[in-house]
Amino acid sequence: MSVHPRTQTLTRRHSPLADTFFQLKVLNGEAVADAKVPPFAETIRHAGFEGGILRPTRIEIFQVNVGKLCNQTCAHCHVDAGPDRKRENMSKETFELCLDILRRYDIPTVDITGGAPEMNPHFRWFVEQCRQLGKHVMDRCNLTIIVSHERYRDLPHFFAQHGVEVVSSLPHYSARRTDSQRGDGVFEASIEALRLLNDVGYGQPDSNLKINLVYNPTGTFLPGNQEALEREFKAQLQRKYGIVFNRLYAITNMPISRFLDYLLESGQYETYMQTLLDAFNPAAVAGVMCRNTISVSWDGYLYDCDFNQMLDLKVSAPGKHLQDFDLEALEQRAIVLNQHCYGCTAGAGSSCGGQVAV
Ligand code: SF4
Ligand code: SF4
Repeated sequence: MSVHPRTQTLTRRHSPLADTFFQLKVLNGEAVADAKVPPFAETIRHAGFEGGILRPTRIEIFQVNVGKLCNQTCAHCHVDAGPDRKRENMSKETFELCLDILRRYDIPTVDITGGAPEMNPHFRWFVEQCRQLGKHVMDRCNLTIIVSHERYRDLPHFFAQHGVEVVSSLPHYSARRTDSQRGDGVFEASIEALRLLNDVGYGQPDSNLKINLVYNPTGTFLPGNQEALEREFKAQLQRKYGIVFNRLYAITNMPISRFLDYLLESGQYETYMQTLLDAFNPAAVAGVMCRNTISVSWDGYLYDCDFNQMLDLKVSAPGKHLQDFDLEALEQRAIVLNQHCYGCTAGAGSSCGGQVAV
């Protein structure tokens, strides 16, 4: 890999601004001299999307990223989350703005993510308010938070009481592969948390309580067939640990944040981007999650997806903050695209709900 001298001295995490500035330079081919991936918009134009523009269908998912505070520091984390990110945490006032929008508009699903969203002091109150509004609530729970401290141990009961759908990362059914990506001891703690969730009914065949697992590759390769992986995970987790779950979502590692660091440091950035480009699947474009999702940051700004949020690429609609939320304008906007979008359209495609095409 060759890096332009003028950007060699830039390192990520100087500040949020330098961070996104550097990542966008890399993605746009300005920092890595021999990266030759055509613009994503150009590729989808050739695939039949007029003008290389992607527009939403209808906003059905209101995804709230409540902050970057997390009990873990996973190697692939696209949020760059960790125990030190205490400042970036959604305030009650911003949650109130979210609820105001959810009251006004028929957006059926609230998808809560972080960080470890349960560490936000207003998390439980927000879940209760969303349920009172009749919304379907999903929580992206890293599992280990449940067993990290006594105060979180009743989360499975709380989730069950409010009918929350739980979505949790588990990179592999082997301790070694999970711990290599998420940290020592994470696998064991995840299994303990899954048992607690199973005990209150999550994943059980006769239960409405859903626990879905998220698999992402532990290296620079694309996920395998989602159905085959689900069968394999179900068989292994049941046999070895007596764990049951509903669906497995296979997602692609996005070339941003910590995974981008890894690609650059290991000299695999161009190869990985070429892998994504070679696997570009026009059929996956129509199903990418930004078409039916709006993503909200801890400080109330609006984005097309959680990845654009991490790159500070705000929506192209005039209202870019919860205070100026205009559903009609948002549903007519052009989605902000960049080179990381190849991660959503490689192979069977990738989204917060797993594959998007067959
Ligand atoms: S648990 Fe999730 S949010 Fe926390 S560091 Fe890991 S990937 Fe990031
Ligand atoms: S990265 Fe975001 S904006 Fe790009 S295709 Fe994926 S979901 Fe859409």
